[in-house]
Amino acid sequence: MEHRDIVIVGGGMVGSALGAALADHGLSVCVLEKDEPAPFAPEQAPDLRVSAISPASAAFLASIGAWESVLAMRATPYRRMQVWEGDEAGGALFDAAEAGVDALGHIVENRIVQLAATAALKQRQAVDYRCPASVSDIIYRPQASQLTLSDGSRLQARLMIAADGARSLVREAAGIGITSWDYPMHALVLSCRVAAEQQDITWQRFTATGPLAFLPLSGDAASLVWYHRPEEVKRLFALSDEELIAAVSQAFPRKLPGIRELVARGSFGLTRRHAQRYAREGVALAGDAAHTIHPLAGQGVNLGFQDAALLARTILDAYAKGEDWASEKVLARYQRARKPANLAMQTGMDAFCYGFSNEIPPLKALRGLGLKMADKAGPLKRGVIRYALGLSPMQGRG
Ligand SMILES: Cc1cc2nc3c(=O)[nH]c(=O)nc-3n(C[C@H](O)[C@H](O)[C@H](O)COP(=O)(O)OP(=O)(O)OC[C@H]3O[C@@H](n4cnc5c(N)ncnc54)[C@H](O)[C@@H]3O)c2cc1C
Repeated sequence: MEHRDIVIVGGGMVGSALGAALADHGLSVCVLEKDEPAPFAPEQAPDLRVSAISPASAAFLASIGAWESVLAMRATPYRRMQVWEGDEAGGALFDAAEAGVDALGHIVENRIVQLAATAALKQRQAVDYRCPASVSDIIYRPQASQLTLSDGSRLQARLMIAADGARSLVREAAGIGITSWDYPMHALVLSCRVAAEQQDITWQRFTATGPLAFLPLSGDAASLVWYHRPEEVKRLFALSDEELIAAVSQAFPRKLPGIRELVARGSFGLTRRHAQRYAREGVALAGDAAHTIHPLAGQGVNLGFQDAALLARTILDAYAKGEDWASEKVLARYQRARKPANLAMQTGMDAFCYGFSNEIPPLKALRGLGLKMADKAGPLKRGVIRYALGLSPMQGRG
């Protein structure tokens, strides 16, 4: 059976970036991905799945040589972010200049991030990237786990890393449990073309049933996210294009430019999950395999990149010092740094989500005050922005 020092299961955004960060430092690395992402062509309409990539994530992707390729394909910077509830007056406006950065982030299609990270991975000498390669069975052993692929081939790994997403097979095989619950809302995601020039603002309006969000894409393209009760999302999803455009125009703020064309739609159930541990001897979890979070502030994959950066650094530092880099003792350093940071972000997002999704008068008054305070210029506002961008020390050193 072939042996590798490290086998990463899942070559999505997080797994392929982690593979690129780990490869070429003396350890043999293998990345297994079951679905090949379609190549990029500039004339393609934007994909439905997009993410707000923070400056911290962009810096990590730059460090592995992937960010330039993201920019060369397609990425939309946003310099302002507005949050409000009720009518369109008031709320809080965050500006990149106040945080001392060029942009608050970039909206990028997930496939483009994955393609760029995979290209960086393939440039490494000592990497074994296999795609399509689906792992169908795993026997977890602390010193040498065994993985069987759907074509029958087998691999042995000193360290197995779960980057295989929310329903991680690796996590299950290693006997690591999760704490999870479903949010009482689903997300309807719409990719559309609007009657406006290129936008540099992303905005979110909170309502009692859930937020309504606008994310700018390149040119006149945009992504809209409508959070609502599951049965209402189901009803909206089944409407014709004309009916859905009319429903959006009625529910979304006047700020939304008119919708010229609805390009694609998708609906997503939202579940919070947190693995009870991130590591044990010979296995570690990263990205959605370790945690999923309410997407209202677009933090999911950004937390995953912070996991990847810190996990790579922890393993490579230990390897350079001659320590047993796959031991529980070494991997516990990664868990100690990332688990509380991810839990804090999950809890913060839940407070936002539940705090805004109701009409209880004292809470309504409190959040109005909170948004007013957040809008006041000064160190607090700068701190809030930098925390949201992944630039604050509160998030741990990813
Ligand atoms: C509606 C919505 C909006 C979101 N918006 C944002 C946002 O704006 N910003 C943000 O940061 N995050 C956002 N997220 C979250 C973000 O999409 C996830 O955090 C991110 O995709 C996780 O990346 P990952 O690589 O950890 O996992 P995944 O993207 O799930 O990738 C896992 C990979 O593993 C592969 N795989 C799985 N099983 C196997 C196997 N057995 N063998 C081989 N390969 C396997 C899969 O094919 C896949 O490529 C959003 C999520 C939702 C639902």
